[in-house]
Order: sequence, then structure tokens, then C-alpha cells
Amino acid sequence: MQARAELDLSRGKVELPLFLPVATRGFVKATPMQKINEMNIKALISNSVHLTISPGLETLEKTEGINGYTGFKGSYFTDSGGFQILRKELVKVERDGILFRDRKSGKAIRVTPEVSSEIQSKIRSDVAMMLDDCPPYGAETKRYSQSVKRTYEWGKIFSSLKAHNQKRFGIIQGGFEGELRSESARLMTSLEFDGFAIGGLKIGEPKEFTDRVLAKTIPLIPKEYPVYLMGVGDPLSIVEYTKAGIDIFDSTYPTRNARHGFALTNGGPVNLKNAKHSNDFQPIESGCSCETCTFYDKSMLRELHKNEDPSFQYLMTIHNLDFMQRFMESVRNDTEKAWSIAKNFSKVNNSEVNYDKVG
Ligand SMILES: [Zn+2]
Repeated sequence: MQARAELDLSRGKVELPLFLPVATRGFVKATPMQKINEMNIKALISNSVHLTISPGLETLEKTEGINGYTGFKGSYFTDSGGFQILRKELVKVERDGILFRDRKSGKAIRVTPEVSSEIQSKIRSDVAMMLDDCPPYGAETKRYSQSVKRTYEWGKIFSSLKAHNQKRFGIIQGGFEGELRSESARLMTSLEFDGFAIGGLKIGEPKEFTDRVLAKTIPLIPKEYPVYLMGVGDPLSIVEYTKAGIDIFDSTYPTRNARHGFALTNGGPVNLKNAKHSNDFQPIESGCSCETCTFYDKSMLRELHKNEDPSFQYLMTIHNLDFMQRFMESVRNDTEKAWSIAKNFSKVNNSEVNYDKVG
């Protein structure tokens, strides 16, 4: 399937396929925004519910939106928080919306499609995701069926409330049964959205279920719309699902693994915690022009990690984000190279690396 080449957003065009680093509260963990801008990262994904809790909408209105607050020059996507339903202890799904409770402050916030629309328009993100009902893996068919109907009802409201300069994406649910997925795709694509995400995947199901749902669902989305697979972003999944027709990915994969000591390279992940790097005076990746590879070798990085030096997380994060930038360039322009890199990231060979999507 031919992927669309770019997505036109209010802060400029972004090339597809696109990978979005995660910036839950607007910032990428351990990394100054100035550096993110310098690295020419074009888009980030933040969570609208977390932003509402802190720094809060009053602050974000004073700064004329999230870009004014963080100083990011690219585009923000914002998630509605529906995915958090999977963390059951913090949310309650109701007919008209979702009740969230913040882990830190204990603050509760009730999000309906109307509230989600208002929050995201005040945040002024470039792409707002609708509020969806995302049941966990292993739920009963009737729960998935309820989520298809509910997500459609919420989608009707959300898509009717437009915000200036903001694109709005619908989310297709339906669990792991072909018929419910088809029904959800038919219902959601009948609404006025600018793109569609395929939700409720990679939540613990076997890979063949994910693949089957994608194969069934993607052809039902008209080709002019970008298709977003939320919460997926390891190199192997990116090449596989780009081939299947996905245009947009996001994941904590590069940043979370960085903070845990895993550097991403063309040859696969490198565990900097490993004692064998003590006497390795080579950069993480030769030929990488990032700040870390320019000024640090593996021996130094291992030492920083051992001593719990806070700069370790920064240095690792910027290398991993640089890797993702280069890797996505290959995904867009040199498929053969992208596949040859991605194959070095198969789970079998790298079982220690964190493939978890929850960030
Ligand atoms: Zn590097």
C-alpha cells in the first residue's frame, strides 16, 4: 500500500511515516526543549489529561498554548487519555465519559467528549485524538461491542466540535474480532475526521492477533487519511507496520530504554550497563554525529551510569532520539536499509530491552 508522503499541520508539514517521541507533560524526559528543537524533531505526543492536571489549563491559556509554554517549535499531538483506562485503579469508565484520578495529587477529573475537545483546543495541539473507550485485552465480546458503540457516540460529539488550526483524529476500536473491527471502521470513517488511529492494540495480545486486526482494518480506511498506530515504536514494528499501511507511530521505546541504559544502534540495542564496556573507548555508534557520540565513549557512559550521574539519562536520550531520526529517514527513503537495521531488533536476540509501551 502506498503511504501518504506528508501531513500538513499548522506549524508546517511533517513527512510520513512519522515517529512521535513521548512528551507526556509537554517535555521529553531528561532533555531540554532547546535540544529537541536543535535536533529538528518535528512532532511530539503529549497527554491532554496530564497537562490539564499539571501545569493546568489556566497556565497553558496564559502562554497561548502548549508551544508557548514549552518552547517547542514543532507540532504537538495530544492524546485524550482514553488509553489510560487500562490502568484500572486510576479511572472509571462511564456512559458519557471517563473519570481520571491523578496518581500524585489525587485530583479527579471527569472527561467527556465535550470536555476533551475543550481541553485539547485550549492546549492548542496540532492534532487532537478523540476520547475513546479502550477495553483491556481478554475482555468479553460484549464489552468490546459496547466500546465500539460508545466510541462512535463519543466520536460523533468530538468530531462536531472543531478547533481552530487543529486536526482531529478518530479512533477505531473493536477488540480482536474482525466483525467488530469492521463495524467500528465503518462507523468511525462515516464521521468527519482528519485521520484515524487504530486503538486497543499491543495491549498484551499475541502478535498474530495484532497483525490480523491491522490487516482487516487498514484497508477499510479511505487512502486519503493518515493512519496512526498508537503506542508502537520499536524499529521492527515500525518497518513491518509501515508496510501494512501505518503512517504514524509513537512510543516511549527510545527514551525509556535510554534512561534504562539501552542505546539503539544500527546493529541493534547496546546495554551500556554491561561490564564489558568498561574498557571500550569507542562511541556508542561510529558515524553518529550526535553530541553523545561526539564527546563520549562507552567506557565513560558506563562510568556515568555506575555513579548514577544525572547526565547519563540526557546523553542516552539524545543518542536514541538521533537514532530514531536517522532510522525514520531510512523508513521513508531506503526501505532496504530500514529492514536491515530493524532485523537487529528482534525480541529473540534482545530480550532485555524494554518493549513495553506504557510510559
Ligand atoms: Zn550518537
